[in-house]
Amino acid sequence: MSVAMESVAVAHGKLILENPLALLKDQVLGEVILPETDQYDAARAVGFFTVDRRPAVIVRPVTAEDVSTAVLFAQEHDLEIAVRSGGHSLAAHSVVQGAMVIDLSAMKKVKVDPLTQIARVQGGATSGDIVAAAQPLGLALSTGDTRSVGIGGLTTGGGIGLLARKHGLTIDSLVSAEVVLADGRIVRASETEHPDLFWAVRGGGGNFGIVTEFTFRLAQVGMVLGGLLVLPASPKLMREVLDYAYAAPDGLTVIADVMHAPPAPFIPEERIGERVAVLMVTWTGTLEEGLDAVAPLRALAEPVADTIAPIPYENMYLYTDQYSGQHGAAVRMMFADDVTDAMIDDVFEAMGTASSPATMMQFRAMGGAVSRVAEGATAFAHRSQKYFVSIINVWIDPADDPQVHRAWTDALFAKLQPCGRGAYVNFLEAEGETRVQDAYPAETYARLAAVKAIYDPQNVFHFNQNIKPAV
Ligand SMILES: Cc1cc2nc3c(=O)[nH]c(=O)nc-3n(C[C@H](O)[C@H](O)[C@H](O)COP(=O)(O)OP(=O)(O)OC[C@H]3O[C@@H](n4cnc5c(N)ncnc54)[C@H](O)[C@@H]3O)c2cc1C
Repeated sequence: MSVAMESVAVAHGKLILENPLALLKDQVLGEVILPETDQYDAARAVGFFTVDRRPAVIVRPVTAEDVSTAVLFAQEHDLEIAVRSGGHSLAAHSVVQGAMVIDLSAMKKVKVDPLTQIARVQGGATSGDIVAAAQPLGLALSTGDTRSVGIGGLTTGGGIGLLARKHGLTIDSLVSAEVVLADGRIVRASETEHPDLFWAVRGGGGNFGIVTEFTFRLAQVGMVLGGLLVLPASPKLMREVLDYAYAAPDGLTVIADVMHAPPAPFIPEERIGERVAVLMVTWTGTLEEGLDAVAPLRALAEPVADTIAPIPYENMYLYTDQYSGQHGAAVRMMFADDVTDAMIDDVFEAMGTASSPATMMQFRAMGGAVSRVAEGATAFAHRSQKYFVSIINVWIDPADDPQVHRAWTDALFAKLQPCGRGAYVNFLEAEGETRVQDAYPAETYARLAAVKAIYDPQNVFHFNQNIKPAV
């Protein structure tokens, strides 16, 4: 191993290492960013302005071998590891104080084979990178609702998005994954190779290794009938929205937010701030059937705005692009077999005292293709739940006191949680071990702990929604 010149100083005739971490520069092809460098502050920033952590070193690998080297180097130097793909972890797990960030953002190639409709996606790509490569071929992957979310975090947690009811979770399209393990080995996981690992990375989070490449089967999705239907909100209207969204044909996926109408080109100025239900509607299928599927929603009330139209699927992301920038957020999430009228009343009462004008109460109807995969087939196991229910309390002024927003969020969640079940690992903040256990049925959790004991017995990958290795 050669010693990098900038890392040594001469004192009393002896070589002294100034920063042993600079040695990593000689061992990887990618960038190594140390605190004294110009890029450091930008490289340690994540999606939330509330997070201000100073890692000892940020590595931007360009190959799976680089990732492997970084993983081994971190262990040699007793450094905790944080893994970063899109940097959107609600728990801020992609940046770690005083340790190593393995930042995959230089590994974002997406290669789509138009004949087989198979995409090979590097672990640092975002949903936006995938849609940019797939849309021109009339293809798509069922990812989340926001362009900048990383495929690394999204997929290892499950991936619930705009096409979920038609094409399932992101993991339901996963054919295989190339994974760098804690001992530095680079393995492929699929139904036939390391099937236990393949099962675990489909919902078990970043616990088992670093995925450097995902292979996905894409769906034929070119144009969709999609957009926003903004309706004046009332408990009665939400009851009807939720009942219909779950019972609708699979081609229709609806994300319904109760919120205050934001300033947007499609919202009449005099209605900004009014309490509304913003339905993010995506239909895949024929236009005629889509218009029929959307009609019952359109009939519910005179809309504040209706942008639903035939559009390229990629354009759906325009409606969430504002969340790609830095913001503050306090999030609580649960699944529910049913959203009761009492829950809806609690939501409406709480929205009257919302701590931020951008607060959203989000409901997603599950069902469809998500529910047709057997519960035990993947580590994501909440497939029979009808609704995804989440308080997404967003604020945009960095001067706001986060405690005010967190207190409001916690108070509402305390009311709702008794009516819900479980949690989605990708919508957890740093909420403690019990909540990580909530994300899995007991049997699934035990199986994940057993797989963890095989692939990461020392819990090297623990800066995540951690599953401890079974003893
Ligand atoms: C604005 C916004 C919108 C969202 N919308 C949706 C949505 O519609 N649907 C949905 O399902 N989720 C959604 N999420 C949640 C999102 O899926 C999670 O926050 C996810 O963890 C983010 O992934 P990331 O790669 O951007 O995050 P990062 O912070 O980069 O990574 C998060 C964690 O994932 C693991 N990880 C990341 N990359 C890899 C990898 N290559 N190999 C192994 N482990 C890895 C690591 O443990 C890492 O700490 C949203 C989040 C935000 C902030």
